[in-house]
Amino acid sequence: MNKNPYEVLGVAKDASDADIKKAYHKLVMKYHPDKNPGDKSAEEKFKEVNNAFDILKDPQKRAAYDRYGDAAFAGGNGAGAGFGGNPFGNGSFHFNMGGGDMGGMEDILREAMRGFGFGGAGFGGGRENTQQSGRDLLDEVVIDLKDAYFGKTHTVKFTSAVKCDKCDGHGTADGKPAKTCSTCGGSGYVHTRQGFFAVETPCPDCNGLGKKIDKKCSQCDGTGTINKQRTLDVKIPAGIQDGARLRMAGMGEAARNGGRAGDFYLDIRIRPDKTFQRIGNDLLMHKDIDFTTLALGGEIEIDTLDDKKLSVKISAGTQVGEKLRVRGHGMPNGRGGFGDLYIETGIVIPKKLTEKQKKALSEFAGIKSDKKGWF
Ligand SMILES: [Zn+2]
Ligand SMILES: [Zn+2]
Repeated sequence: MNKNPYEVLGVAKDASDADIKKAYHKLVMKYHPDKNPGDKSAEEKFKEVNNAFDILKDPQKRAAYDRYGDAAFAGGNGAGAGFGGNPFGNGSFHFNMGGGDMGGMEDILREAMRGFGFGGAGFGGGRENTQQSGRDLLDEVVIDLKDAYFGKTHTVKFTSAVKCDKCDGHGTADGKPAKTCSTCGGSGYVHTRQGFFAVETPCPDCNGLGKKIDKKCSQCDGTGTINKQRTLDVKIPAGIQDGARLRMAGMGEAARNGGRAGDFYLDIRIRPDKTFQRIGNDLLMHKDIDFTTLALGGEIEIDTLDDKKLSVKISAGTQVGEKLRVRGHGMPNGRGGFGDLYIETGIVIPKKLTEKQKKALSEFAGIKSDKKGWF
């Protein structure tokens, strides 16, 4: 079971994101494996700090912890049922106890996030044994509207559990698959009787893993995973919407003892653009236009989001605040087409006029098409 993340980082419950980040950086430096070679307690602390930060850096996870944290510990995994049905999805109810760093907290968070719509279909299938699944990872990136227009590759660097290369994730010294536990037949659970009821409990011989390792891999100590610096290239498609969540299946943390790896999620935020406002797949821009062009008609040139010059026809008598539609110059719609660009017209009134201009305008002011004026 994970420790209270606020206590681990030594911050108050209402600590700001900046304070949490600061505390995390301090502790992560202190307990970093590179600085404490061979020190198991430092390594344990390092994991705790990372786990704690994992929760507190993410507003959704933090809220979930604040809301369900204590209840989760008090009620065991049963509390998970409150967030959308049987968390294990396979009919039988397993009491997951102990076993690695994936304690009840993770399971509850997973369920809580499912309740928030986290990942959608990504979690739909239900996992028969969450202890053998790697954790999902979530990151966020803020991109420019132009990046959203063209699409881009975003590179994420982070440290996470990966499959141990020495034993190919099996956790065994010889690198071969671990033997099936003979006590539980590989299910990880044994049935015992408590009075009238048959109860499933984790297999005491294999701690619920269903496998037994005679000789452990020296690199991963039998867990099948090691922590490693990773680089992931996430392809952000052209036309992506603000708030979109991209999923890279199986790119999260590796699972212990050869289970299913978690998924990697990237949340996309789009920085507001100074010139273009996005409305769905359309773009809206404001353009001040010479008053004579508005009155007489003509052509203006604008710079588009995709760095092109575009000539736009202005018809005579165009009013201020009209929205001129230029088809196909909006955002990519993800289906091979584009939205439209709307140009909201403004006006430029000259501050200084030459004598000749003044005369011409005064003359114009004197010419009325009828008694009501120009209109
Ligand atoms: Zn067993
Ligand atoms: Zn190994």
